[in-house]
Amino acid sequence: MKDTKVDVLVIGAGIIGISLAHELQRSGRQVTLIDRGEPGMGCSYGNAGWITPCFAMPLPQPGMFWKSIGWLLNPDSPLYIKPQPSWLLARWMMSFLFAMNQRRLTESVAVLTDISKYSLKFYKELADRAPQTFGFDQKGLLLVSATETGIRAAELEMKLMNDRGIPGEVMNGEQVRAKEPALKSLIKGGVYFPTEAHAEPLETVKALVKEFEAAGGKVQSRTEVFDFEFQNGKIDTVVTTRGRFKPDLVVMAMGSWSRNMARRLEVNVPLLGGKGYSLITNSFEQKPQHPIMIVERKIAVTPRADSVRLAGTMEIVDRDEGITPRRVRAILNGSKEYMHMQAEPEIREVWRGLRPCTPDGVPMVGFSKKWPNLFYSLGHQMLGLQSAPGSARLAADLIAGRSPITDARPFRPERFE
Ligand SMILES: Cc1cc2nc3c(=O)[nH]c(=O)nc-3n(C[C@H](O)[C@H](O)[C@H](O)COP(=O)(O)OP(=O)(O)OC[C@H]3O[C@@H](n4cnc5c(N)ncnc54)[C@H](O)[C@@H]3O)c2cc1C
Repeated sequence: MKDTKVDVLVIGAGIIGISLAHELQRSGRQVTLIDRGEPGMGCSYGNAGWITPCFAMPLPQPGMFWKSIGWLLNPDSPLYIKPQPSWLLARWMMSFLFAMNQRRLTESVAVLTDISKYSLKFYKELADRAPQTFGFDQKGLLLVSATETGIRAAELEMKLMNDRGIPGEVMNGEQVRAKEPALKSLIKGGVYFPTEAHAEPLETVKALVKEFEAAGGKVQSRTEVFDFEFQNGKIDTVVTTRGRFKPDLVVMAMGSWSRNMARRLEVNVPLLGGKGYSLITNSFEQKPQHPIMIVERKIAVTPRADSVRLAGTMEIVDRDEGITPRRVRAILNGSKEYMHMQAEPEIREVWRGLRPCTPDGVPMVGFSKKWPNLFYSLGHQMLGLQSAPGSARLAADLIAGRSPITDARPFRPERFE
């Protein structure tokens, strides 16, 4: 197979890979982006499409310890960790539990909010440049609940986010239903974040691919990396099913598949998949007009041009991509309980994706200690869409040796290497 010399090779054309390829190409590098499939068909395909800096929280949070023990035992919980004799899972769980402290939370929320706010602004500008191409809409976000505990949790989140400059207002049940008549009368109240946005996830990837190619970037689909060759302490060749690439810089952005490849590179990338589902339906008696989070069910409802996407559940797995019918039913039944839907909704599409989850809930963005021409951009957990442009800008700053847009320390890959 022929050798191709390239400047930057980005492996993985999900929202993370394309955002970084786009950013680097615009800053003057010559970027080639490859994917084993078509761009955006991994976890970036069917997510809820939320661009909501108010949700810039890592997965491990203080006070979750006893809850997470309960989750181990309950397959119907919104976050399920299936107990299994796995050394990888045991180590991941230990780091996950260790990260549940206030100091780590404060540090993580600060940087995740910074990159999410940058991203919201970026998407707004993209929507101005390419109007009506990727479903960008800034209608805000409603957090709703039928319980006092749920309302208190939403208010607590609002206070935390108000401190980070994200506006939100508390609403009673009547106010919530007046804003969103698709909700049933069991809703007791909630919080409205007016500046949050949503978009179509696959169309967002496509809009970025279009700009990237127009700027001279190259995309090569159906090109799977399966090996590497090394010389003088560096990655010399990336071997794929469609050619051998000799890059100056390799960017690893393979989402939840990155761990397999890391083994070949003899580096540690402790990612597990956070499996979640989404369903597309239009079986509403009244179609929701705003993105809605049903707090106690952790169901995300997103209005689309001709339908609605219902998304939810998080099951920590190691490469298990199977669809569990009870989890799909839980999303549908939870949605029917809280919203005016038809008794037998027609489902147009069921999708599942593996969120790439680091144990401390913060992505790995930075150079590898072992291979000086390897850069990681991985592990964006449940925030990949909403943080991708900000994460890409942070990565481009580090690659160019500029002062980064936010504190880069929490993202350092060597915390695991
Ligand atoms: C149900 C659900 C709802 C979600 N909702 C939201 C939301 O509302 N907002 C938000 O911000 N995030 C959300 N997320 C999270 C978000 O989808 C992910 O964080 C994001 O898609 C991760 O992007 P990625 O580019 O890292 O991974 P991916 O999109 O999975 O991309 C990785 C790419 O690498 C390619 N690849 C893998 N192996 C190889 C190889 N060997 N050679 C070449 N290419 C390879 C794959 O084909 C794939 O295209 C949600 C996730 C789920 C599951």
